[in-house]
Amino acid sequence: MAERSESDSRKLLRRLRDSLALPGKGQDRLDRITHLIADSMHTEVCSIYLFRDPDTLELCATEGLKKEAVHQTRMKVGEGLVGRVARSAAPINTADAPSEKGFRYMPETGEEIYSSFLGVPIQRVGERLGVLVVQSKTKRLFLEDDVYALEVVAMVLAEMTELGAFLGEGESPGALHKQPRMFRGGVAQEGTAEGHVWLHEPRVVVTNPVADDPLTEIERIRDAVGQLRVSIDDLLVAESLDKDQRQVLEAYRMFANSRGWLKRMEEDIARGLSAEAAVEKEQSAARARLSQVEDAYLRERLHDLDDLSNRLLRILTGQGQDTGAQMPDDPILVARNIGPAELLEYGKRLRGVVLQEGSVGSHAAIVARALAIPLVIHAEGIISEALNGDYLLVDGDQGVAHLRPDEMVVRSFRDKMAMQAKAQERYASLRNLPAQSKCGTVTRLNMNAGLMADLPSIESSGAEGVGLFRTELQFLIRNQMPKRDELAKLYARVMDAAKGRPVAFRTLDIGSDKVLPYMKPQDEPNPAMGWRAIRVGLDKPGVLQMQAQALMRAANGRDLQVMFPFITELGEFVAARDMVLRQRDREAALGRPVPQDLKIGAMLETPSLAYAPKLFFDMADFVSIGGNDLKQFFFAADRENERVRRRYDTLNTSFLRFLRLIADRCRDSGTALSFCGEDAGRPVEALTFATLGIGALSMRPASIGPVKALLRQVDLNEAREVVFEAMAQGVESVRPMLMGWLATQAE
Ligand code: PEP
Ligand code: MG
Repeated sequence: MAERSESDSRKLLRRLRDSLALPGKGQDRLDRITHLIADSMHTEVCSIYLFRDPDTLELCATEGLKKEAVHQTRMKVGEGLVGRVARSAAPINTADAPSEKGFRYMPETGEEIYSSFLGVPIQRVGERLGVLVVQSKTKRLFLEDDVYALEVVAMVLAEMTELGAFLGEGESPGALHKQPRMFRGGVAQEGTAEGHVWLHEPRVVVTNPVADDPLTEIERIRDAVGQLRVSIDDLLVAESLDKDQRQVLEAYRMFANSRGWLKRMEEDIARGLSAEAAVEKEQSAARARLSQVEDAYLRERLHDLDDLSNRLLRILTGQGQDTGAQMPDDPILVARNIGPAELLEYGKRLRGVVLQEGSVGSHAAIVARALAIPLVIHAEGIISEALNGDYLLVDGDQGVAHLRPDEMVVRSFRDKMAMQAKAQERYASLRNLPAQSKCGTVTRLNMNAGLMADLPSIESSGAEGVGLFRTELQFLIRNQMPKRDELAKLYARVMDAAKGRPVAFRTLDIGSDKVLPYMKPQDEPNPAMGWRAIRVGLDKPGVLQMQAQALMRAANGRDLQVMFPFITELGEFVAARDMVLRQRDREAALGRPVPQDLKIGAMLETPSLAYAPKLFFDMADFVSIGGNDLKQFFFAADRENERVRRRYDTLNTSFLRFLRLIADRCRDSGTALSFCGEDAGRPVEALTFATLGIGALSMRPASIGPVKALLRQVDLNEAREVVFEAMAQGVESVRPMLMGWLATQAE
């Protein structure tokens, strides 16, 4: 095979571009391309495999293999050499394909006679599109130069695919961002929203992947990198930067000044790519590496590079948020992922949020909940499909997003929204009424909170207090550890907003899924059962002491409730309680006002605490069941794992028996008991808990209305009989019987 020169590469790219500009069907274009590439690379075979669905690749065009195999041959990601290229997003180059690990012979293609194989991924900034392959009979390894040249071609193909170049006139314009698309993801915050897409990171559309004049392009990229460096230097001199922001910017500056980065892009340009395509090529390569890297520090650095590439693309194309794109009046944020602070910055302006990644327990999800914004997570592929301004419906109840929906979907969606609005009106009318059941029993309904954005809900939801204030949120949304005085001010604002209603402040609950950005991450095999919550608090008492002081100063003589997360045994409670009491004495010794009434409680989140010595229940002023954690340990089902988290019914009789035991132990010691996990906000679950003798429930503000409506509608004694009868009958879950009974109540 003859050596390839840079001008060979440029020639091929130009021929590709010209060929794509010709009219014709998408298939004709693909066929022409495979022919051109095989010809230019001096190989007998060139094939293009594209993704059919996220797991399957299909042979879409070939020069050299049997034509009958086109659109017939398919393979799973990871299967055969082509599948391996797709999985690893890295080239495979071999002189002897049949003896290569993972080789799978596809008889219908007639490929057995070709020995050498070179496959490269077709990808565009993290989006996998397919695999480009050349094969030849001669047993020889392709030169490094050939690999590089084929990667450059694959980059151009990726851009062309994105631009819809393989769709002829009248063919499905799916890739052109016009058709309706439904994304089935996961539920992270219920509610419905109608609006228009606002991309958190606007997509930069590169319309000119191939450039004729490398010198001009090199000048453009140098100029853009120069501008980028200046903009980072400008940011670095800003006075308001904290240590972490400065560190990130220093890392950016290092990349922006790295010769290697610019040099690689200049080489791509010399091969015929435009400046923009060169940036994207290096960005794609970095993204592919990112998915392979396990080291958290390196991943961060690669993320930095990714962000930097986006900035560079915006400079080159003049596209982006800072170039005049207008946020719609009814924005629905679409993002790969988003941090809690960024989401808070958008605040209530957003109608909804759809994330391609994300998780139920993520900080962004917690913020979305506090802002009562419907949130759908795991909407696979939405980032590449949605464009700014696209019409979008978010069904947070079902975890579904409808992009550019058709009339029918819009109509039924609006019906649903209207029904929900009616229900909300009904709930609002109950706001000032107690959750009193027909038998006269009153259940106390509190709300969960953690952000300042939650505070208005104390009034509007009709909550009788804050049953759980998650103090860690204030730590999570910052780049550095908050100071005592700052926290004292915040806590005082919370107490002010509660206007005398009790607020149960939970001390810092970090670890497991809640990782502080400024704390060294722990490399633990199983963080949910690791060094978390009160375990951290007791081992590193400085923060707990500081929080206790901040809370006393905020209370400034008023009543105060403090509870500890994840107490597992009596000794932990005693130690944590002592620490708080010592702080109270210290404050008193300093002549500062101490709380009039200080109540110290514990969260019951592990089964062990239910069986603690009686002294624990006697000593605790109150106990709050953290059902989210308790359930995950009771059923051994990870609350973050979509596959198992809904597997076991909360109304499973074994769990209910266990809750009853807790309720009995609290009653025997005269200890107040509440339930503050997510299940408390589900009406049927809430009703069941109330029948077991759990007198207070704490939930998201939006759940108070529906829970109250149901509790007021039924006789709790009758409901208890149904629940206990179901348990006596030995069924697995009381749900069917309870639902059956509830149906008769509605009649
Ligand atoms: C719980 O575990 O139920 C709880 C309320 O705490 P968190 O969800 O913050 O872990
Ligand atoms: Mg918990």
